[in-house]
Amino acid sequence: MPAPTCASCHTARANLRRPRSGQALCGACFCNAFEAEVLHTVLAGRLLPRGAVVAVGASGGKDSTVLAHVLRALAPQLDISLHLVAVDEGIGGYRDAALAAVRHQAARWELPLTVVAYEDLFGGWTMDAVARSTAGSGRSRSCCTFCGVLRRRALEEGARLVGATHIVTGHNADDMAETVLMNFLRGDAGRLARGGGLGSPGEGGALPRCRPLQLASQKEVVLYAHFRRLHYFSEECVYAPEAFRGHARDLLKRLEAARPSAVLDLVHSAERLALAPTARPPRPGACSRCGALASRALCQACALLDGLNRGLPRLAIGKGRRELELEEAPRRSVPAADALTAF
Ligand code: SF4
Repeated sequence: MPAPTCASCHTARANLRRPRSGQALCGACFCNAFEAEVLHTVLAGRLLPRGAVVAVGASGGKDSTVLAHVLRALAPQLDISLHLVAVDEGIGGYRDAALAAVRHQAARWELPLTVVAYEDLFGGWTMDAVARSTAGSGRSRSCCTFCGVLRRRALEEGARLVGATHIVTGHNADDMAETVLMNFLRGDAGRLARGGGLGSPGEGGALPRCRPLQLASQKEVVLYAHFRRLHYFSEECVYAPEAFRGHARDLLKRLEAARPSAVLDLVHSAERLALAPTARPPRPGACSRCGALASRALCQACALLDGLNRGLPRLAIGKGRRELELEEAPRRSVPAADALTAF
């Protein structure tokens, strides 16, 4: 059966059926619609004011590649300037190749690029060193816990270095839905309540962050990269197979097979959750070491590094971390389902 005609331009043959709407579109009309939707997300959410200097968290992967490409196309309309900021976590056999992809993109799109390294920022710690320290096997289940916290700090440092006023990351709807599931499964009520919305306004002196692709599905991000002929790095990090996120991803795939709207439903669910008044944590203050926002004496990054430097990495993660936190500032633990109110 011949492909139908594109439902938008009515002249070209359709190349795809949009996963979300089922609409048959040609590649060019799909890409235009995708860009228009990201523009709408940014404008409706007032994510990036005119004149913003935007640090784009660039990993070389599909999401940040698509994000940088779309924002570059929208930059004149939005009146923003872009600066790619890449983080070198120090993961042998993985990050070097990914950084090569970022350098290639920066040169091709004539965008400034700054690379910040864990090793320089965190007293010589690389992710490979953290992995050796946490498990001795070099492939610890805890790696992504450390890396997530350190990466957030590194991106903030890199963005400040280049004079950025805002940070954008390439998280798509699937990433966000996985995060919602993970927070539920861990009973992390605080993160669930904070996880809604399209970003954070920049509390405690942190730069405002947003996720312009948060309402775009992973499938559509891949389709956009395909039709715009974007080259990206697609190998998986060596530590990813051990990450808890993989379980959430598998669960989400099964949920999506039964209910195609499950991804966006989860993302929107997070926007409608709030902590019950009795479960609200104390107002965050400043980390006693670095001054970043912290709900305890030390912020997460300083607590993790402190545990590593003391040769007690287990104190900074999982059960041991809770013990450390309790020592610093006793706080009631509230199961997620008890702590949340849906509007
Ligand atoms: Fe870091 Fe984990 Fe991502 Fe690897 S998979 S870059 S360790 S967060």
